[in-house]
Amino acid sequence: MFDKVLIANRGEIALRIHRACKEMGIVTVAVHSTADVDAMHVRLADEAVCIGPPSSMESYLNIPAIISAAEISDVDAIHPGYGFLSENAQFAEIVGEHQITFIGPKPEHIRLMGDKIAAKEAVKKLGIPIVPGSVGAIGDSDEAKKIAGAIGYPVIVKAAAGGGGRGMKVVAGPDDMDDAFKAARTEAKAAFGNDTLYVEKYLPSPRHIEVQVLADSFGNAVHLGERDCSLQRRHQKILEEAPSPVLDDKERKRIGKIVAKAISGLGYLGAGTIEFLYQDGEFYFIEMNTRLQVEHPVTEMITGIDLVREQIRIAAGEPLNYKQQDITFSGHAIECRINAEDPLTFAPSPGRISDYHAPGGLDVRVDSALYAGYTVPPYYDSLVAKLIVHGKTRNGCLMRLRRALQEYVIGGIVTTIPLHQALIENPDFIEGKYDIHWLEKYLESLRG
Ligand code: ADP
Repeated sequence: MFDKVLIANRGEIALRIHRACKEMGIVTVAVHSTADVDAMHVRLADEAVCIGPPSSMESYLNIPAIISAAEISDVDAIHPGYGFLSENAQFAEIVGEHQITFIGPKPEHIRLMGDKIAAKEAVKKLGIPIVPGSVGAIGDSDEAKKIAGAIGYPVIVKAAAGGGGRGMKVVAGPDDMDDAFKAARTEAKAAFGNDTLYVEKYLPSPRHIEVQVLADSFGNAVHLGERDCSLQRRHQKILEEAPSPVLDDKERKRIGKIVAKAISGLGYLGAGTIEFLYQDGEFYFIEMNTRLQVEHPVTEMITGIDLVREQIRIAAGEPLNYKQQDITFSGHAIECRINAEDPLTFAPSPGRISDYHAPGGLDVRVDSALYAGYTVPPYYDSLVAKLIVHGKTRNGCLMRLRRALQEYVIGGIVTTIPLHQALIENPDFIEGKYDIHWLEKYLESLRG
């Protein structure tokens, strides 16, 4: 097992990793920008190294600075968290070249899943169902029209290097293709420096359901059930739950089995998530995330498995110490992402936290790096807290979530807590009847 781990991240996820390390007796090293000198992850870590100015490009994305910090603090491994360098295959390779273990998958798998065209082809061969569409990249708009004509409109033009919902355009019919293709290409080039596009059948009202997996270096792979992340705004998840209100046990087992078998066939290592669109009883692969996800706590709440601990154990060469049949799902969990943003306009709201009181009690978990007197800097992602609640039933979970949200005090800045409070009173949400477009329509209705 490792003696010392560097956490190449900030905010709640840096704290989450620090906590797992401490519980395993591992010394932690925080890295931080000059804007994060007073951050909680810096305060709690055993050691801290400043790696640059506020801009992410010069600090949390600065590979030479992070490797130098790892060398001077003599760590055995680096945990990248999510975002920043977590899905950068080159970073994983460089870490390895320095005789430091990257706590994550093999660089080849990060690279494969980062190219969505190659990823689709690879998982299809492993038996995972995919969205019908182009085989490989599309050269021009005319080729896109040919393929769209064959699979039927509407279609969606997507970027091979895609992420965060960028470089994506829905096309209703052939007359719209030229403009959509051009717009997607421009957006993809600007966002990813890669304008390779592909075309898929557009599913009008799917749910976003993803399956969590873990695989060790001995060829063992298990799934940890699904998360329903259909409540999205601009393709960004807002609230996640497990299990999905629309899957029964048979469906769960069916897709879980397909996914675990594919992951084992791939020779994958560590934690990962296979994302699907789910409509009319069918799953369609959209992408695989080769890292820990923001919403991983809902899976931890219903399985009792500490995913970060497992990531660390697997990276240290230890085997999974359970088989698929040992993994059981208990009750229901919901996570609310609390952002420093206006709940209706989503305008960022950084600033000083004047008062802070986190909810507590049975089955209530708060993952946050906030404290009274802390100033949320304007330079980074606006996620400031995750409230995760467990209940024996979905209804019990909702009752508990309602009271936990009521208790939560984050003074001095505007947050999305009121949005969550309104959302969980909505009859459609209470009945679990929502697809990936539902939240946008709901927000429209709130804005009047
Ligand atoms: P990104 O990597 O940019 O997040 P994804 O492929 O994961 O892109 O898709 C993000 C979101 O875009 C999905 O959660 C879904 O809301 C929407 N989407 C993607 N592909 C389709 C599709 N074929 N039909 C309908 N919606 C889609």
